[in-house]
Amino acid sequence: MTRLLFVNASQVITCAGAPRARRGKEAADAAILANVAIAVEDDIIGAVGPLNEIERDYGDAERIDCGGRVISPGLVDSHTHAIFGRARYEEQELRAGGLGYMEIARRGGGIHSSVADLRKRTEDDLFVLALARIQKLASYGSTTIEVKSGYGLSLEDELKSLRVIARLSRELPVRLVPTWLGAHEIPLEFRGNSRARGDYVRLLIDEVLPAVVDGNLARFADVFCEPGVFTLEETRSILEASRTAGLGIKLHADELEPHGGAELAAELGAVSADHLAAISEAGISALAASGTVATLLPGTMLFLGRDRQAPARALLDGGAAVALATDFNPGTSPTVNFPLILTLGVSQLRMTVAEVFIAATVNGAAAVGLADRVGQVAPGYSADLAVWDASDVREIPYWYGDRRCIGTWVKGKRCHYAGAADNLNLSREP
Ligand SMILES: [Zn+2]
Repeated sequence: MTRLLFVNASQVITCAGAPRARRGKEAADAAILANVAIAVEDDIIGAVGPLNEIERDYGDAERIDCGGRVISPGLVDSHTHAIFGRARYEEQELRAGGLGYMEIARRGGGIHSSVADLRKRTEDDLFVLALARIQKLASYGSTTIEVKSGYGLSLEDELKSLRVIARLSRELPVRLVPTWLGAHEIPLEFRGNSRARGDYVRLLIDEVLPAVVDGNLARFADVFCEPGVFTLEETRSILEASRTAGLGIKLHADELEPHGGAELAAELGAVSADHLAAISEAGISALAASGTVATLLPGTMLFLGRDRQAPARALLDGGAAVALATDFNPGTSPTVNFPLILTLGVSQLRMTVAEVFIAATVNGAAAVGLADRVGQVAPGYSADLAVWDASDVREIPYWYGDRRCIGTWVKGKRCHYAGAADNLNLSREP
């Protein structure tokens, strides 16, 4: 049995509190403690408190000296598209030259080029590519990562993508949450006429969804609900069928144009509505009055060169629960750096440091249905921890772009370690 005692931290960002998404005043308090140690018993946090109190029960535990650094819950990245083949670096210059997202898609770029590429690759090939990418995501402090399919868009290629996520889950210590995003785009072979579109929606509902559920390959279903992609009616039918089949539901909503996606997410009781850069006033009110988490992805708008970011302050001040995530994907957000997204949360979305930590831990956990197990440094929670090379929590979003995470643990087991020393001692350089 693992027994660990994390000692000598300057601050512990506990995010401790109710096992659900935080909103309002609760979202502004990350419950940061000084002069506390953390005891881990097997895969669970056993105690958080003054060292002299908890070491009586954990005197025999292996000590990890944090050297005056900051400890936080392992970060929860609740929105990634990490299963893809080749990178799409050529589109960045096209966008800079004035071509829009939809125009690049119409020229056969965008998602369609990722689909054509993924369909040609073997499961082993995709596994090797994704393995390195997930390890990079984890090296920045994420211990729970949601991963979507969505570049297959056929029965076999969606199942292939989801099987890769299952294999990654078995082989990596990081916790992965699989989401089926068969409704990422209408594939080219179903674009001949309006009947063909309907045929694709029926294929998703009648053939792909049952196979995903039979194989126990996903916890959530997601739909890209946006003008030019899936309509509100199509989104509703796919998500209602998915919910009936036992999956949780998520939406890509109101990313580029206000479209009623946030309102639909709230109405359907989706676990999250993601993007929201173009959310309407009615959408903000609907999310604030619902249990749906508003997941904001500021890296995407930054990378696309957009002026507009999601109205985080209006959502927070209106009482919505806000999460942040990387949206790691080959087209619009090729970053593995979740702390950089926290920087954008403060500097672009005007969130406080406490709000960005709640958004990247407890509320991210709520956005993947795990708020009762991960996202807090509190007794009974999974021992998912990140140690940061910083003596003050505010340094983490401040040193923007830097990799300050020097170690993570998932279920009490070492997941990532960036230190030079090969023992557990994390003593800090003067
Ligand atoms: Zn996405």
